[in-house]
This record gives sequence, structure tokens and C-alpha cells, in this order.
Amino acid sequence: MSYTWEPKWIKKRIRVSEGVEIETCYDISTGLMLCPLCVNVSRMCPSTTEPTNIIPENVPYFFSPEDIIYHMKVHTKAVEGKKLYIEVKEEEEVEEEEE
Ligand SMILES: [Zn+2]
Repeated sequence: MSYTWEPKWIKKRIRVSEGVEIETCYDISTGLMLCPLCVNVSRMCPSTTEPTNIIPENVPYFFSPEDIIYHMKVHTKAVEGKKLYIEVKEEEEVEEEEE
């Protein structure tokens, strides 16, 4: 079975919490949303009316604004002084051997 998802991304304002909105890409065919920090919104979904059908690679998709906000909070720490998208790796635990 082939994978035929043809997204229709439009730029959309999404209310993520009281008084807070983000502008990001929203797929009108599935309702998926993208993180505006992981994708280039102005390339991915430049228009609010004419959808694009780019399939983004290596980015997370979100079904709810809560998920995006949670994800973006992880970004904000990484973003400072660095590039926008950084894989967050757990640091290896280096502990002294104990008996
Ligand atoms: Zn992101």
C-alpha cells in the first residue's frame, strides 16, 4: 500500500492559550499542524488561502495546540544563541561506581 498523503498547508493562526496565538502551517486535509520553529513558515505555507503540498521531512506533526506549545517550550531553551532546531539528547550519566 503506497503512502499517499497530500497535505494542504495553509498559514493559520492558532490559539494556543489565553491571549496567545502562533502563526504556523496547518494541513486542511488532516488537521495536522507544524511547529513554526521547526519549519520555515514563509516557505512551507506562504499563503493563508492557497495551500501548498510539500511533505516536510524530519519534523514533528501535532494534532493539538497543547502539543505544539509543549514542544516549543523545549525549543526556547535551545534557541537562545543557537540555531532553531536542536535535537535534545539526554546527557549520558557519568556516575562513579558505587558498591
Ligand atoms: Zn519545533
